[in-house]
Amino acid sequence: MTAADAEGKCPFCGEANTCMAKSRQPCWCIAATIPAELVELVPAPAKGKACICQACVRRYNRDPASFRSR
Ligand SMILES: [Zn+2]
Repeated sequence: MTAADAEGKCPFCGEANTCMAKSRQPCWCIAATIPAELVELVPAPAKGKACICQACVRRYNRDPASFRSR
């Protein structure tokens, strides 16, 4: 496993985050609003490296309490 693989995974669910930040195409996360509080909950080693996946952003918007309780 390479570092790039780890960065391609969501820090919350471990699924591929499908972030396009390293490609030439604009990433979906630029258009989406990632709640600042959710970014704060990313574990320190992954912060600023791994992208949160779309599913977890949606999950957070629906049920923020389940993320805070981790
Ligand atoms: Zn996720």
